[in-house]
Amino acid sequence: MAYVITDNCVACGTCISACPVEAISEGDIYKIDPDTCIDCGTCAENCPSEAIVPGE
Ligand code: SF4
Repeated sequence: MAYVITDNCVACGTCISACPVEAISEGDIYKIDPDTCIDCGTCAENCPSEAIVPGE
């Protein structure tokens, strides 16, 4: 399952540069495209707000 970004997101942009497949898009709160995400976990490891979690 793709990772998801929660309300803890502060839109800092760290995950966007970390993602190897450019699955994350900007916004008030960032979003991960579940069809593009390869479930690598890199964004979650790099998120300073611990806002990214594995999807259900
Ligand atoms: Fe990108 Fe990996 Fe995060 Fe999926 S888990 S959005 S592929 S960095």
